[in-house]
Amino acid sequence: MAEARLRPTRAEIDLEAWRHNVALLAEVSRPAALCAVIKADGYGHGAALVASAALDAGAAGLAVAVVDEGIALREAGVAGPILVLSEPPADAAEAAIEHHLTVALYSPAALDALDDAAARVGTGAIVHVKVDTGMHRVGLEPDAVAGFLDALATKPRLTLEGFWTHLAVADGQGTEDREFTAHQLDAFEGHLSALAARGFTPSVRHAANSAGAIAHPRSRYDLVRAGIALYGELPHPSMAAVFADASPGGQLRPVLSLRSEVVALRHLEAGARPSYGRLRPLPAAAGVATVPLGYADGVPRRLFEAGGEVLIGGRRRAIAGAVTMDQLVVDCGPDGDVAVGDEVVLIGRQGAEAISAAEWARLLGTISYEVLTGIGPRVPRVARGRPAVAAPAARTGWRQWLRAATGPSAAR
Ligand SMILES: *Cc1c(COP(=O)(O)O)cnc(C)c1O
Repeated sequence: MAEARLRPTRAEIDLEAWRHNVALLAEVSRPAALCAVIKADGYGHGAALVASAALDAGAAGLAVAVVDEGIALREAGVAGPILVLSEPPADAAEAAIEHHLTVALYSPAALDALDDAAARVGTGAIVHVKVDTGMHRVGLEPDAVAGFLDALATKPRLTLEGFWTHLAVADGQGTEDREFTAHQLDAFEGHLSALAARGFTPSVRHAANSAGAIAHPRSRYDLVRAGIALYGELPHPSMAAVFADASPGGQLRPVLSLRSEVVALRHLEAGARPSYGRLRPLPAAAGVATVPLGYADGVPRRLFEAGGEVLIGGRRRAIAGAVTMDQLVVDCGPDGDVAVGDEVVLIGRQGAEAISAAEWARLLGTISYEVLTGIGPRVPRVARGRPAVAAPAARTGWRQWLRAATGPSAAR
């Protein structure tokens, strides 16, 4: 990641807001424990920046998508359980074990590969078996679960700790979506009963993403896997109602702000057409500011035509032409109230105004997840607020952490 001081463009990561959101989701989810999902470099925030702060704010552990992300966290000194949500490819199994990653499993081939790797490394591995209850992306087919667990039981190096699934429409507020989620949870609980009848009692049962944790209490089980809410964004705009009555302390707070500054300013006549393609004439004579970030940094080229704005001097200003790879131009109007060196906020708060990732998502026809993860590696991530306290000693399983995080009631 680039050095912060060499570029005025930066993503500021507010660790106090992050801790607030982690504590809030942990509270909402209790007695279930909280797993902070920090895949995709912490949804663009910098996984290493937020990992330990999540643990000291009350998360029982972390989740990433792939083994490499888990290794990167261990190399950054992060202790505590790390669940890898995607089953490791055969040649990643050994590294997953060596780095004490908790491994998702859902295919016989990966089961065998993990067992072979455990034999080579000479230690055990802790696994969370995933079943597909309706997301239809990855996970065991319903009729394959019993056979899979029987096979797992013949491999003493592998410990079945978790059993889990993933919800497809937990963010949907409509009847059909709510029914589908209920159907997924029914199916999940059916599997749990069938497993119990065969003597399998996984201690960490989980299904909920942020939307499940917030809107479907039944989906919380032992652990919720929350991502987007911890970054201060709702899984879906319609979920704002859930937080509408909450006190300020009960509201999610945005964690990331994307900031830069004016590096050039020119005065153009009405009708001038800044940037590539000369797409739109200025409606009036204006100061036009140049800001040093572009689509290679995660500001989509389309944001101009979609009506994107930035904040300068606490006021909203329209992007004035096509966003280029490294720069964009802003219509600062006729008032002459902008100068070179002024701060520019693309996402975040400035004075009384704020622009959220959700606002970009609405304009661009996408979701805030894609906006946040789109912020490129060239943008330095700069932490604000108290850094994380020293990480506790590494432990490999989730079970003891669940007890520590939520008390004996969670250790069912
Ligand atoms: C990304 C992911 C999550 C977190 O989802 P959010 O909607 O960001 O809370 C949880 N579980 C799985 C399997 C995921 O891939």
